[in-house]
Amino acid sequence: MSSQKCVNLILIGPPGAGKGTVAPKLNEDYGVTHLSTGDMLRAVIQSGLPLGQKIKEVIDSGKLVNDELMGEMILAAIRDCKRGFLLDGFPRNEKQAEMLCNILSKEGLKLDTVIELCVPDELLVTRICGRLLHTSSGRTYHETFCPPKLPNKDDVTGEDLCRRSDDNEPALKKRLEVFHTQTAPLIEYYKKLKLHAMVDASCSPEEVYTQVRAILDQK
Ligand code: AMP
Repeated sequence: MSSQKCVNLILIGPPGAGKGTVAPKLNEDYGVTHLSTGDMLRAVIQSGLPLGQKIKEVIDSGKLVNDELMGEMILAAIRDCKRGFLLDGFPRNEKQAEMLCNILSKEGLKLDTVIELCVPDELLVTRICGRLLHTSSGRTYHETFCPPKLPNKDDVTGEDLCRRSDDNEPALKKRLEVFHTQTAPLIEYYKKLKLHAMVDASCSPEEVYTQVRAILDQK
């Protein structure tokens, strides 16, 4: 696929699979808008709205926020994507996949591919528990595997990095359970639609990105 062509894709994978690492590169190379529902929800929490407190409780428990709210957020966001979109964190279950299908058909859009980032669960604890986040941009780092240039500072803005309140072992356990029971079945759903492609995301970020690009270049 030429980097000039408009592309609409979904990245699907467990927490810590590297969706947030691949997405900014795809934005840079293909111009697609990175739509991370986790980042959108964290922005609502930051805004101090009463809804934010409720959302924070759900996120910290590792469960899913209600489907209707997520559908509304995605509809509003997709309408603004002029050069294609990259969904990171949506859909999370079959109901959301159906919602997305309706949104796309109403907006006259279609999905090009669904890329699954596949990583064994045992690698995810180390990845998640060393993760550092730049809240306003969504950029992520890792203490060991992808450290910022200056300790605890975002490379671009120099602002402080923080840890996500759900990046701890008990919340991760619940998030993984939710992933395997509710989100992983979407892989079959998209296989049936002939949209699924798989990447081995247990290797380095560079190798993962090479695999992702190879998939897009076949489109
Ligand atoms: P993420 O940043 O994608 O790991 O998402 C962090 C948390 O936000 C998840 O564990 C959920 O609690 C919530 N969340 C993100 N996206 C969705 C979604 N599509 N549906 C429901 N909850 C979501």
